[in-house]
Amino acid sequence: MLRLFMAFGLLVSIAAALLVAWAHQLPAVMRPDREAPRSYLITNASLLDPAAGSVQANGHVMVIDGRIDLVGTGPLPARPGGIAQIDAGGRVLMPGLIDVHVHVFDETDLAAGLARGVTTVRNMGGFPFHLPLASQVERGEILGPRLLTTGPILNEVGGRNGNALHEAVDGADEARASVRRQYAAGFRHLKLYSNLSRESFAAIRDEAAVLGMTMGGHPVEGTQADPVDFAASLDAGFQTLEHTESIVWHALNDETEPEGVRQLAEQIAASGTMIDPTLVVHENLARIVETEGAHITRPAMASYNPVIAGYEQENFEFWSQYQPDDRSRMQAFYVEVTGALHAAGVRLTVGTDSGVMATPHGISTVREMEILVDAGLTPSEAIRAATLNGAEVLGLDGQIGCLAPGCAADLVLVAGDPTQDIAWLYEIDAVMRDGRWLDFDTLTALEEAGHHPSSLRTWWRLGQHTRAIH
Ligand SMILES: [Zn+2]
Repeated sequence: MLRLFMAFGLLVSIAAALLVAWAHQLPAVMRPDREAPRSYLITNASLLDPAAGSVQANGHVMVIDGRIDLVGTGPLPARPGGIAQIDAGGRVLMPGLIDVHVHVFDETDLAAGLARGVTTVRNMGGFPFHLPLASQVERGEILGPRLLTTGPILNEVGGRNGNALHEAVDGADEARASVRRQYAAGFRHLKLYSNLSRESFAAIRDEAAVLGMTMGGHPVEGTQADPVDFAASLDAGFQTLEHTESIVWHALNDETEPEGVRQLAEQIAASGTMIDPTLVVHENLARIVETEGAHITRPAMASYNPVIAGYEQENFEFWSQYQPDDRSRMQAFYVEVTGALHAAGVRLTVGTDSGVMATPHGISTVREMEILVDAGLTPSEAIRAATLNGAEVLGLDGQIGCLAPGCAADLVLVAGDPTQDIAWLYEIDAVMRDGRWLDFDTLTALEEAGHHPSSLRTWWRLGQHTRAIH
């Protein structure tokens, strides 16, 4: 009997090990060749330095061990130690894109982003797996955009838009304990959600200051019984305040009169807070309403995680039956408000909410930049938002999002000049990530890898996360 029992135990262990091994199987393209060179001389490039905002023909960039060593035009420098030369064919070379608001549920999300020239992402809702995954990417074991993450989303118990994936706190003591727990787990950035109470908000802010953690998130609305003024979120020292939609909802109660918009833009500009508009996610919501749900099955959704789609099914059904005009009208207004913020001097970043609400990774980052141009930014300003501003928000200015000696060799090669037409960013021919050259075939393989998120891995991680926060 005992022997049978042991045999059964052994079988179960083998099955579990196989399952875990299978769950960790990644598409081959995501496992980079560790011996591949990370030093190159790229020649014959049109250089797009976001700080200058214009393109310089006939340029070259020397990359040594994953860092930009030299940027110039004219006669080529000597190539040390026989490093390889890449002819850019006159195409535009610029820093890779930084998306400061995504939700990563699977490694394949990273593949989908990188295939489209996104070389850094900030995950805005941390699960336990994000920290080790970020380290694996950092060490070059997994190919993907540089991954930064906030801790689990902090919200109040019973919040209006609460969901099971939020770390819900009940008052100041729990809020403080949650911040400490997230710090102990290794998180250094906090994500705050709309429905925190005044007391919890204050406790989180104080504890973050003590521990030296940064904060970002939605404007904090407080509770129905004790609403918190919008100004409190401008005073809180957020790295970014997310979603034009949430800001307009909180600050203007969705009222569209111009005087309110003007005052709001001035108020935000005076605070110096950077805004991450995430216009693309509300656009997708408006498109779901307009198309009575057909937008959910568009081709770009091939990379969307099926577990998350299942989880959101109820939302999708709700929006599919929503009053048609309303969301499209509000989308136009959110774009207009974003333009007013920019005109008032508010600095913007590029974020998308990719990974949730029918917003797929990669392609949505470029779409967000297109919408920012619709809102009134020049293409160069939208590029600056996706590079220099993103880097600054993440505390990495001078290290990423720039085209100068010392910057990370995270670059994209674009078929045409995006300062003339931002839509050229849909035509990325090659990417350099941490000095590794990813040609067009590799990008195609990454895009394909992005189409195969693992449901098993996602289920496993949702379970791990839920156990960690409850
Ligand atoms: Zn989000």
